Amino acid sequence: MANSMITQPNYEELRDAFQAGFDSIDDGDGFYHGFHAFLADRGFGKREDIPCTCSDNGAHGHQPECQWVKP
Ligand SMILES: [Zn+2]
Repeated sequence: MANSMITQPNYEELRDAFQAGFDSIDDGDGFYHGFHAFLADRGFGKREDIPCTCSDNGAHGHQPECQWVKP
């Protein structure tokens, strides 16, 4: 399985990334600006070439961290 070869953000990293996103909203840059900047700063990147990494495979819409992994 492709997903066994990649590292997804852990619970604490996601929690902090969400907080960074909310801070980014307060700064007027929008949620994704801060959320993605935080993950990128931790060495994660969005991989368009891998399957959806949502816990429910996107059944209820993709989560902000979908496809954000460490290569
Ligand atoms: Zn997804």
